Amino acid sequence: MTFEEIKTLDSQYVMPSYSRFPVAVDHGKGATIWDVNGREYIDFTSGIGVCSLGYADEGWVEAVTNQAKKLAHISNLFYAEPYAALAEKLCTRAGMCSVFFSNSGAEGNEGLIKLARKWSFDKYGKGRGTVITLRNSFHGRTITTLAATGQDKFHNYFFPFTEGFRYADANDIDSVEAVAGHDVCAVMMELIQGEGGVLPLDREFVQKVAALCAKRDWLLLIDEVQTGVGRTGSLFAYQQYGIQPDAVSFAKGIAGGLPFGGVMAGEKCKAVFTSGTHGTTFGGNPVAAAAAGYVLDRIDDAFLAQVREKGAYLREQIEALSVPCLGRTRGLGMMIGIEVKEGWTNKELANKLIDSGLLILTAGPSLRLLPPLVITYEEMDKGLAIMKTVLA
Ligand SMILES: *Cc1c(COP(=O)(O)O)cnc(C)c1O
Repeated sequence: MTFEEIKTLDSQYVMPSYSRFPVAVDHGKGATIWDVNGREYIDFTSGIGVCSLGYADEGWVEAVTNQAKKLAHISNLFYAEPYAALAEKLCTRAGMCSVFFSNSGAEGNEGLIKLARKWSFDKYGKGRGTVITLRNSFHGRTITTLAATGQDKFHNYFFPFTEGFRYADANDIDSVEAVAGHDVCAVMMELIQGEGGVLPLDREFVQKVAALCAKRDWLLLIDEVQTGVGRTGSLFAYQQYGIQPDAVSFAKGIAGGLPFGGVMAGEKCKAVFTSGTHGTTFGGNPVAAAAAGYVLDRIDDAFLAQVREKGAYLREQIEALSVPCLGRTRGLGMMIGIEVKEGWTNKELANKLIDSGLLILTAGPSLRLLPPLVITYEEMDKGLAIMKTVLA
């Protein structure tokens, strides 16, 4: 199909909930993508942080196809090796005790919230179901995770939303204390607010929240859906913040391109989800679990050091472009935000860059880079050269 044919079908039959860039992607290799006309693009998106090993990684394709040939799916009424092997790998490397597998970030966060509420119910009974989240956060698109999301623009149309959320300001511990109460069971936050604009939380604030959680017997819940699985230069971002959360959600990059996610729990709440209290048909899917196992094996210490180096290189080079429309960069590892100066919008810059062969994301008012973690220096230089030409 041509681009126009695809676009026509999309506008006729697909619900218009996305505004798409005018590119129909056909295939990719590494961090390079080709559209249906054979035009080449450098990819600084990983499909929103999903394709952690880039496109068509040979080992990944082999892990997926080998599993697909054996067993594509079996229900959670039976045991299967891929999810069990993955559970051990993930918990061991994350310093967590148990995991529940789901299929997306929102579903992982539903798991976090349900885990916290049931943990508190089991210990204290009813009336302690409130979760404190941060303003400018993003936790997903289900009714409950929209309610958890601390941005008014997401609290529209779909009333009534789930009750039991209160919002505090990021990097302001007084603001968290101000919404405390006897009805609270947990604080839930991203360590770098992704959709909000790639805004890293202060280390000191995060440690104060952890201390407050310990003092009031609240669970510390970390949403690592975007920051997790190597994105920030450690397996999980909390490993760089000097905290050990009670529970952590993950998704996006975990299976390198297949829908997968979940929630991991520490000692305190490792056995909260007893038989029949939580579940999902596709959770722990063998093909996705095999893919995730392969992704985790690739993300060893040497790989993570590369992520940190490449992230630092990208930020240095972007700041050295010194083009008038861009300000400072921020982020961690290969999760990078770029300030857009007054007089320009991130959407118009993104459109121009994509039009010139560089796929890039926006977040809040900023540009956002989430390149495949395997991107080469040559690919980064090609992308930087496009930025230089287009934005000068
Ligand atoms: C993307 C994202 C989500 C939602 O994930 P889905 O897979 O789209 O449901 C939740 N939290 C954070 C931090 C995210 O970046």
